[in-house]
Amino acid sequence: MTTHVRTRVAIIGAGPAGLLLSHLLAADGIESVVIDQRSREEIETTIRAGILEQGTVDLLVDSGASDRVLTVGNRHDGIELRFEGEGHRIDFPSLVGRAVWLYPQHEVLKDLVAARIAGGQDLRLGVTAERVEDATTDHPRVIATGPDGEELVIEADFVVGADGSRSVARAAVTGSSTGGYFREYPFAWFGILCEAPPSSEELIYSRSDEGFALISQRSATVQRMYFQCDVDDNTERYSEAQLWDELQKRVPGTELKQGTIFQRDILRFRSFVAHKVLEGRVALIGDAAHTVPPTGAKGMNLAIADVVVLTAALRALLLEGDDRLVQAFPETALQRIWKAQHFSWWMTSMLHVAPGASEFDRLRQIGELRSVVESEAGKTYLAEAYTGWPLAGRS
Ligand SMILES: Cc1cc2nc3c(=O)[nH]c(=O)nc-3n(C[C@H](O)[C@H](O)[C@H](O)COP(=O)(O)OP(=O)(O)OC[C@H]3O[C@@H](n4cnc5c(N)ncnc54)[C@H](O)[C@@H]3O)c2cc1C
Repeated sequence: MTTHVRTRVAIIGAGPAGLLLSHLLAADGIESVVIDQRSREEIETTIRAGILEQGTVDLLVDSGASDRVLTVGNRHDGIELRFEGEGHRIDFPSLVGRAVWLYPQHEVLKDLVAARIAGGQDLRLGVTAERVEDATTDHPRVIATGPDGEELVIEADFVVGADGSRSVARAAVTGSSTGGYFREYPFAWFGILCEAPPSSEELIYSRSDEGFALISQRSATVQRMYFQCDVDDNTERYSEAQLWDELQKRVPGTELKQGTIFQRDILRFRSFVAHKVLEGRVALIGDAAHTVPPTGAKGMNLAIADVVVLTAALRALLLEGDDRLVQAFPETALQRIWKAQHFSWWMTSMLHVAPGASEFDRLRQIGELRSVVESEAGKTYLAEAYTGWPLAGRS
């Protein structure tokens, strides 16, 4: 049996991009249906990104999506770049007058799901999109399968693929499920969550001859840390003591506070930008359109920046019949996407040790890090990009 649903905007994916888009559209009186293949519990418990740019926080608060970000989240006024055993603080407010917030992605998702349910909006979980049809007509459609295998057809004025890096909507936009620009990296991150007090108040991005490590926090009692590992590493290869050794040797000069490790994961990463992000009345946003290595903390923030641009475009199209902003969406969004791609690639290449790196590579990398921390211009660029460029139409 097939169920037919009609809405103005059909959104595939209840990640940060899809949920925030539906929330902002609802504020303008534009109805949408959001579907996601996962359950609410999975969405609200998966550990992913943790750093929110200043503009992301302002948007979540101003739009009524979250006030917990200001109470549960922690404002961070800087990060430390560590190399040759010495830390160098990048002070965001004095450099660019902005800051970032440590507030995990699953907390953002809890807020957005709650806002959506409180608003009586249509959110369908356990529903998997199979394909998008009729992209170049006025009534594109999503063909999906419900939790019991039943077919669901959502006909809309506009379809948005916010369905992450394995997007099915991408085929309707680029003509293939992969169509895009790629860069692979010859290393990955081994991530842990542990029960321990913080080892530092702010994030430490450390380059050592053993490889990269990121010392990050979650709360007063839970910490998130990562170290550079091989792409084909596996999570069970290390005992708990070995994991602490691997982390500690990558942050010489800081003694890590150890505790029970209760989650391990390997994060393989790549840079990707879809060849196209718009086809007719179907747009791609967030990880469906691009992925970045996590070193610049840009993934979720970039997804949210896409939402801001697309919300304005859909408002003009659906409320005023003006499609100029929709036509301009690719160019507007891609300018920020490529800046974020560059920043994420730059932080990654500056801080990781590539397999087979020579002494020249090592010394050049130290020279590059010194050029940043010893220069107001260098530190300012890093602070500007890390805290986030202004969002379109917002200060
Ligand atoms: C494993 C992992 C770890 C990460 N860790 C970090 C990190 O430590 N730091 C950092 O800065 N960034 C990290 N990121 C990046 C960041 O989390 C993403 O950039 C962000 O989630 C993008 O949001 P999104 O809404 O575009 O996509 P997603 O959050 O991926 O949401 C997409 C949603 O679409 C749903 N979906 C997919 N296909 C279908 C379908 N066919 N039908 C229905 N629903 C579908 C998925 O279930 C998902 O809920 C990580 C990403 C991943 C994948």
